[in-house]
Amino acid sequence: MFKFNKAKVLFLVLILSLTVVLTGCFGSGDLFVVDSNLGDYNLSSVPEDLEEITVGFSEDLLEVEVVLEENGEQLEGLTIDIDGRDLRISNLELNEFSLYNLMVRARDESGNEFIERIEFITEENFVVENPNELMMQVFYWEMGQDPDRPEERDLWLLLEDKAEEIAEAGFTSLWLPPANKAFGGLEDVGYGTYDLWDLGEFDQQRANDPAGTIRTKYGTKYELEGALAAISAAGMDAYYDVIFNHRMGADTTERVRLSQSSPDKPGQEIEAWTYFDLEGRQKYYSRADQWKWDWTAFDAVDWDQASRSEGRFIFEGKSWDNTYGSDYLMGSDVDYSREDIRHEMNEWGEWIVNEIGFDGFRLDAIKHVDSDFTREWIEYVQQNTEQDVVFIAEAWENSDDSLAGYLEHVGHSDLTAFDFPLREAFANMRDGRLNLSDLENRGLVNREGYENRAVTFVDNHDTDRDGDEYGDAIYSHKYQAYTYILMHENGIPKVYWKDYYVEDMKEGLDKLIGARNRFAYGPGYAAENNSADNFAYVRKGSKEVEGSGLVMMINQGGSRRFTGESFEVTFSYEPGEAVESVSLAGEINGWDPSATPMVDENGDGVYEVTKELSAGEYAYKFVVNGDQWIEPEGAEKYVGDGHGGQNAVIVLGAAEEEQEVTEEFYTQKVNSSQPNTTFIDYTANVEGTVTTDADGYGEFKVRVSVEDGWSVWVPISSN
Ligand code: CA
Repeated sequence: MFKFNKAKVLFLVLILSLTVVLTGCFGSGDLFVVDSNLGDYNLSSVPEDLEEITVGFSEDLLEVEVVLEENGEQLEGLTIDIDGRDLRISNLELNEFSLYNLMVRARDESGNEFIERIEFITEENFVVENPNELMMQVFYWEMGQDPDRPEERDLWLLLEDKAEEIAEAGFTSLWLPPANKAFGGLEDVGYGTYDLWDLGEFDQQRANDPAGTIRTKYGTKYELEGALAAISAAGMDAYYDVIFNHRMGADTTERVRLSQSSPDKPGQEIEAWTYFDLEGRQKYYSRADQWKWDWTAFDAVDWDQASRSEGRFIFEGKSWDNTYGSDYLMGSDVDYSREDIRHEMNEWGEWIVNEIGFDGFRLDAIKHVDSDFTREWIEYVQQNTEQDVVFIAEAWENSDDSLAGYLEHVGHSDLTAFDFPLREAFANMRDGRLNLSDLENRGLVNREGYENRAVTFVDNHDTDRDGDEYGDAIYSHKYQAYTYILMHENGIPKVYWKDYYVEDMKEGLDKLIGARNRFAYGPGYAAENNSADNFAYVRKGSKEVEGSGLVMMINQGGSRRFTGESFEVTFSYEPGEAVESVSLAGEINGWDPSATPMVDENGDGVYEVTKELSAGEYAYKFVVNGDQWIEPEGAEKYVGDGHGGQNAVIVLGAAEEEQEVTEEFYTQKVNSSQPNTTFIDYTANVEGTVTTDADGYGEFKVRVSVEDGWSVWVPISSN
C-alpha cells in the first residue's frame, strides 16, 4: 500500500456556540421566547444562507422593534412581520463567519415587555489546503476494560469504522498501539514484545495464553490491514509503536553463564527465559532459519528461574550497548551489537512500511537501545521506502538539555521526539508552580534548532493510567495545556484518545482543533507583557490561508501557589571520602545524574553547583560516582522517593497566602499583527468582540479561571 499524494484537503464547517446575552430583563408579565430557528439559548450557530429568522413568543404580539447588527454595523432593509405570536425577520443577506447581534424589543396586548439581545454567528464553509498536522494516540492503558465501551475491545475494527470521522475532525496521523504478538496475550497492551513479525497472524506463544493466540489485544493482522486501508483512504498516516529494547514471554529457559562483570552472580550460571521458539510462525517472514532467538541474541535478563530471584545478570561475552540511558530496562535485553539482529530489524522496518502500510514509527524506550543501531536503522528504513517516513523517539527526559542530548547522541536529523520537558511545564502548572511567562522557554519546542523536532503532548498511556503507575496525570489546567500545544507554531501536537473520547473533552478539543486548522498559521510569538498568571501568544496569519492568524490566551485562575521570582541557589555536598564525581539530580533536570555536575573548585572536599530556579518546590538528591544516590541532609522538607528512601525538597518563593481572585476577566494589551481587525473568541469562553487599533494592538480577554481560563481570538473581519 503506497500513498502517492500526501496533500490533504480538509472541508471545514465552523460551528461556534455563543451564549445568549441578556441585556434587559423580562417585563411585568409573561412574555418570553418559546422557540426560534436561531436555536436554543446557548447555541447560536446558523447557516450563512439563512433566509428568515423566526422567533415564537408565549403571547400574541402587539408591536416589536428589531435591530440586527453584523460585526457591529447595523443592517438596513430588513422585512419585519408579526403573525400572532410569531416574529419573522426576512430579506436577510448574511455573510459567512460573521458575528450578529439581534436586539428585540417586543410588547404584547397586556403590556408585557420583552427586551433581549441574541448573539449568533454564521457558519463558514472554507477549504484549507494542507491544513496543520495533528496526531491522535488512539489507545490508552485500560482500553477494552470498560463494559460501557465494548467497541474498544476490537480496536482495529473500531479504527476502520471511525477513520473518516477522525480525519474530518482534523487529525492527520494516528499513533497505533504495538501491533505485534506480546507476552501477556490478549491482555497485553503490546509492550511485552514476543515476536515483531507476528501481527496477529500466527498461532504461537500458547504457553502464556492457551485460550486464544492468533489475534492480539487489538485484533488480527487481517483486521489491522482493514484499519490501515481505512486510515489511508481518509488521508491520514499511521505510526507503528515499536519496542526494540526487549523481548518477553520466552517459550523455554536456558542455562546461561554470566559475565565476570555481571552486577549480580558474576561468573555463575543462571536459568534464563531466553529461548523463543517461534514455532507457530514456522520461520515465515524472517531469516530466523539462519540463527535463533536464544540467549545469544540478548545481553542481559533480570530473573534467574533456578533460584527464583531478581537481579541484574549480564551474560558471558556480552557487554552493554552504546545507549544514552541505561541499556537495561526490562525483559530479555536485545543485543544490537549483532549484525544479524540489526539486519533482521532493517528488513522488518522495510516490511512494516512497504508491505503492511504504516507511514512512521514511535520508538518505545529508545534511549535504552543502542544509538548507533537506531541511527543506522532510521537511515536504512528511510532509504528503502518510497515515502517520507516519520520517526518519533520516546526518550523520557524531562529537561530539554538532556532530550536534545539524546537526539544528538543518535545524530539523525529525521528523528523527532515527544516533548517530555514541555509536559513537565504542564505538570508544574497543574501543581501551581509554573510562572506562565516562563512557558516560552520551556520544552524542546522552544529550544533553538529543535523547534520542529518536537511532538508536543499533554498526557499519554503512561502518564495518565488508572492506578497511576507513573503517577502524575495533568488532571487540571488540561485545556490550557492543549490550547498551548494546538496553537503553537512549532511541533506536531498529539491528542490523547482517553482525553478526547473517555474524559469527555471532545467538544472542547474540537473547538480548539477547529481554531488550529482554520486560523493557526504564520509566524508565532509570545506577547511581551506576559505575567506569572497569564500567557498570550500570537499567530500572525499567513497569506496562504485567507483570514488566518489568532491571539491565544491562557490563565491559571489564581491557582499558582508560588511567586513568580527567580532564585539563585547553591547546592553543596561533602562526601567525606575521595570520590570520582558528584552531581545534582532531581526535578530541576529530569533526575538525570549526568545533567548537573558538582565541582570541588578549592579542593576542600565540598562539591557545589549554583542554579537559577524559578519559584516552586523541587525534589532532589546527590549522585556520587554516577550511580550512588545520596539523601541530602538538613533540607527544609522531605518526600518519599518511591523506592523506600527520601528525596530532599527545596521550597522557593512560596506565596504567603492563597491568591484571591476578584476579577472575572484578565485583559492584556497584545499586538495581534493585524491592524483594524475585529476578533471573536472561538472557544466562546469570552463573549463579544475585540477590535485592534491601527498598530494591531487590542485589549484581549480571558477568564480568570482554571475551568474556563483559555481563549483563542480569531479575526472575523478586516475593515
Ligand atoms: Ca537495552
